[in-house]
Amino acid sequence: MRADELQQGAAGAAAAPGADRSVPVSEAGPPVMETGGVLTIDLAAIVANWSDLARRVAPADCSAVVKADAYGCGLVEVGGALARAGCKTFFVAHLSEARALRRALPDAVIYALNGIPPGGSAAFADARVRPVIGSMPELVEWDAFCRVNAWTGGAALHVDTGMNRLGLSVEEAAALAVRVTAPDHGIALVMSHLACAEQTRHPLNERQIQTFREVRMLFRGVDSSLANSSGIFLGPATHCEMVRPGAALYGLNPTPDVANPMRPVVRLEGRVVQVRKVRKGETVGYGASWTASRDSRIAVVAVGYGDGFLRAAAATGAEKPIAIVMGKRCPIVGRISMDLLAVDVTALPEVSPRRGDWATLLGEEFGIDAAAPFAGTIGYEVLTSLGRRYHRSWRS
Ligand SMILES: *Cc1c(COP(=O)(O)O)cnc(C)c1O
Repeated sequence: MRADELQQGAAGAAAAPGADRSVPVSEAGPPVMETGGVLTIDLAAIVANWSDLARRVAPADCSAVVKADAYGCGLVEVGGALARAGCKTFFVAHLSEARALRRALPDAVIYALNGIPPGGSAAFADARVRPVIGSMPELVEWDAFCRVNAWTGGAALHVDTGMNRLGLSVEEAAALAVRVTAPDHGIALVMSHLACAEQTRHPLNERQIQTFREVRMLFRGVDSSLANSSGIFLGPATHCEMVRPGAALYGLNPTPDVANPMRPVVRLEGRVVQVRKVRKGETVGYGASWTASRDSRIAVVAVGYGDGFLRAAAATGAEKPIAIVMGKRCPIVGRISMDLLAVDVTALPEVSPRRGDWATLLGEEFGIDAAAPFAGTIGYEVLTSLGRRYHRSWRS
């Protein structure tokens, strides 16, 4: 049962704000009745975001980065929806993620960004997963494996252009270019990664674009890829033959300086366990960190840091993170507990909310990018932190 249906069952309760009435295509986690939070993931919005990016970069190919359980949105559900929409290439971090995706998508091209651990080549071939090779020892191992086993399943070569995280140096890449571009070698993609793509004027962007241009010359005839989500918006110089968006697919803003061009994807609603009166001068929660400046009403909501709702999100300053209760923005007050948080609903009419109503903690009205700074972090971490205790519902 859905959050909004459930509360309609409670006599007279209004529908959850922004409640989605479409039928879920898939559900996971405990039933709504047995959990404190309901996470709704809009697969149609993810597909729309992917299609929008694919149009922007055409004729370059648009892949999808689905590492970390598709940024917390569900690897198999997201992978399936994007494959049906025409996405052919997927990036994960680890072989275990690649295997899980392979079971769902027998025909997709799957790359594992973190490369091959020592002795791991056979396992990659076994799952038909292409390693993204990021160092010389990996390349030596992979080459030997491919030669001995006549394996032609392909791999990508990561060349570092300034991030200094993964990748061969440009000098190492130059030394192998002739050998690796031979038609039977099996390097299907040469890629690099931008360090500062979301800062449009950062000088490192131009340096990386220029260096990667030189790398592409060395590897003529091999497809290449540079841009993540934000990189796509730096313009066509980053698009090459393939782009690799992650965050933007899930509704995060790839252009922090201007309005978000992507559709929101995730909604999190928490159950109101009770509403209590707190007198002026009394405090709420651990550490007594919030004091009521007037007689107040506090809605206690069954979501906490044990659900990945970051404890740091409890602002002690004047500006507070927001929950949407009965369609109104209400401040979250006091410390976030493991299983609960408190919302000041004094500004709402006396009748609402009630026990069993739902507070929207993340949604169109107050999204992940808006919530993240309160926890001293970025949307990526809010998304990938979303916990496993929620009822999860995928809509299309
Ligand atoms: C995670 C990752 C991406 C996707 O980045 P977003 O900023 O989420 O679009 C692309 N390429 C590499 C190498 C990555 O690690």
